[in-house]
Amino acid sequence: MEHPENSEEYKGLVVNAGIEQPSIVNPYLKFRKKPRRREFSVGEYVEGIVKGNVTVLSQAVTLVESVKPEHQAIAQEVIEKCLPYSGRSIRIGISGVPGAGKSTSIDVFGLHVLRQGGKLAVLAIDPSSERSKGSILGDKTRMEKLSVHPNAFIRPSPSAGSLGGVARKTRETIILCEAGGFDKIFVETVGVGQSETAVHSMVDFFLLIQLAGTGDELQGIKRGIMEMADGIVINKADGNNIEKAKLAASHFRNALHLFPAPDSGWSPKVLTYSGFYGLGIKEIWDMVDEYFAFVKANGYFEQRRNEQAKYWMYESINEHLRDSFYNNETIASMLAVKEEEVLNGKLTSFVAAKKLLDAYYDTLK
Ligand code: GDP
Repeated sequence: MEHPENSEEYKGLVVNAGIEQPSIVNPYLKFRKKPRRREFSVGEYVEGIVKGNVTVLSQAVTLVESVKPEHQAIAQEVIEKCLPYSGRSIRIGISGVPGAGKSTSIDVFGLHVLRQGGKLAVLAIDPSSERSKGSILGDKTRMEKLSVHPNAFIRPSPSAGSLGGVARKTRETIILCEAGGFDKIFVETVGVGQSETAVHSMVDFFLLIQLAGTGDELQGIKRGIMEMADGIVINKADGNNIEKAKLAASHFRNALHLFPAPDSGWSPKVLTYSGFYGLGIKEIWDMVDEYFAFVKANGYFEQRRNEQAKYWMYESINEHLRDSFYNNETIASMLAVKEEEVLNGKLTSFVAAKKLLDAYYDTLK
């Protein structure tokens, strides 16, 4: 359009026609969607895992942890196909109350075992923790050095759920890691509850981290955790804590005499160390090596793994039955009512249970 200012009347005042203003948004800029994670086929998962591809392994673990039935279906197939490649590892459970120094120690232990070669996976069982999306290991900085080690794979605990469920997922993750060539597996648990039993049911060696002078010795005995330990290590034996740690070690040694000899024939050892200063680490791993040589020679290694396999078969049956029962629509609608009736004294617990079970069996007919 011709500008009025360009008319003869306004000489000397020439205004050029404006040019079209570009859009404030670059038209060439495409809003790139975050690429969707590629979904692999079962075969691709297995191949990737067996080739040692950690990204594929991580994604497979995510499927194992997923509650979606379609994910579970793939996960189970992947696990089944990975089974023949699994089993060739040493599995070590590491337990201790919060603050005992598990992360500090696992960082040091991990580097120590990796110096001998191989690959290490660090997994966890922490059903109680909702705080960091169910992960005590959520914060990878807890294991600073290990988390950046090329041969270490650190995976937080599956998010909170029933202990059995969380433990099953960790056990399945062990299988995937082993198929991925991880020949050392650490399973960490907070030494405060039942999770030790779950860890014990999936590891070859159970290491209990204790502290001197916390009165924890007795708690360990009470909770039956000490019986499970193949090695008890007293952390923070440094500075002026060394003597206390040694004293605690002798208390533990005495306490261990109270228990019947373990089936393995191995006498659990008690050692002191400092995870922070890296003292006494070699001695702990010498003990672990000695244990493996011992139980492999006397056949207990195989025996324990077989018993664990049997245990997990029953655990899976129990879990499936429980899920099938509680996810049953008829049951779901009846449960609250029956519970109320029990609370009001209208039904005894046993009659209520029977009615619910009968209703469940009816739905199966
Ligand atoms: P976790 O809760 O069992 O994982 O324990 P952490 O590894 O986070 O350690 C708890 C605290 O104890 C941290 O402040 C560590 O620095 C400290 N700690 C861990 N190991 C040692 C040790 O060997 N000696 C000393 N003095 N402190 C330690």
